[in-house]
Amino acid sequence: MTKSFRTLDDVDVKGKRVLLRVDLNVPMENGRVTDATRLERVAPTITEISDKGGKVILLAHFGRPKGRDAKDSLKPVAVALGQVIKKPVAFADDCIGEPAAKAVAAMKDGDVLCLENTRFHKEEEKNDPAFVAELAKLGDIWVNDAFSAAHRAHATTEGLGHKLPAYAGRTMQAELDALGKALEAPTKPVIAIIGGAKVSTKIDLLENLVSKVDALVIGGGMANTFLHAQGVGVGKSLAEKDLAATALRIMEKAEAANCAIILPVDAVVAYHFAANSPSHAYGLDAIPADGMILDVGPQSTARIHSAIDDAKTLVWNGPLGAFEMTPFDRGTMVAAKHAAERTKAKKLVSVAGGGDTVAALNQAGVSGDFSYVSTAGGAFLEWMEGKPLPGVEVLKQR
Ligand code: AMP
Repeated sequence: MTKSFRTLDDVDVKGKRVLLRVDLNVPMENGRVTDATRLERVAPTITEISDKGGKVILLAHFGRPKGRDAKDSLKPVAVALGQVIKKPVAFADDCIGEPAAKAVAAMKDGDVLCLENTRFHKEEEKNDPAFVAELAKLGDIWVNDAFSAAHRAHATTEGLGHKLPAYAGRTMQAELDALGKALEAPTKPVIAIIGGAKVSTKIDLLENLVSKVDALVIGGGMANTFLHAQGVGVGKSLAEKDLAATALRIMEKAEAANCAIILPVDAVVAYHFAANSPSHAYGLDAIPADGMILDVGPQSTARIHSAIDDAKTLVWNGPLGAFEMTPFDRGTMVAAKHAAERTKAKKLVSVAGGGDTVAALNQAGVSGDFSYVSTAGGAFLEWMEGKPLPGVEVLKQR
């Protein structure tokens, strides 16, 4: 992909005060960080700027506080971050005003400082110009390393990019490079696998994908809506029958765009929404009226397998069945493992994202074998919907 945004390669950070927007939303229990994955993700950018002699001033939100709230303080997170980057992380009790200004003034080249939760000020989410101006006083440049917050035009995720020279951090850069390879300039043919519970949450995403990919596999609960729209009896399955017209419209759009829609041809049906409840695979003409489709069937799994073989690029969001419960995880697990194998064999570029998808790939033990797995929920989905992300747009070269 042509690099359309500036990165840390385009700036000499030595001696500069670098306002670095990061995602520090780690899970916490009793004031302790229980999973440091996100801290590990932002560590390379922090370390690089610090090693080059920049002053790293971290900006981040935490949770959804309504005003100042001690339970959403970033202080314990800053301590945990220090352990990850193996360097002291100083802390200031406010992200603007005297506490912030004093802490920044005390920094030496290479120091790392974390400012308190930006959402303690309601002006953050309003992208308030006066608040942006206060923040901008603290830095010489702004580096955005929080792709997961890039779908929001907030003061620290977007506003600062209009006030200060703006650059992508290494995590942001890796994410944008990976996503670019998947949809913007992919090696064709491109296949998308979209699953999950409902069509209603993914209409924009499906409409965007049919105009971009060569084949679209639809699975999960949302496939039931498409099957119903085509006159298939889906029994008591989860299906949004009022969205039948939407499903047909998406199929028409796909046909016009030469995108093959791959729907299930058989289904695993159970009578209770519970792990290990007795189940059986049925063809589409024989779904029992009192049964529930909880996974794609074996023939569908084989079709998805060969569709993955035909593709050079894969984008995936959403499980193909109720993967949290055995044996209804099977379709998702088989597809995930196969995509991982093809990726390892260098036959496929595979990009996946979304909360349930990450959980499913972890369950299959293949997250590390995909080309890229995005942990950014909302931002990843908006990217799949083809929407411009404000926090990325502002990084583009002007
Ligand atoms: P989403 O958040 O839209 O990606 O949906 C993920 C959820 O869809 C997971 O909790 C799955 O258990 C659920 N799901 C997938 N397939 C089915 C199905 N056939 N019936 C009911 N729920 C499903």
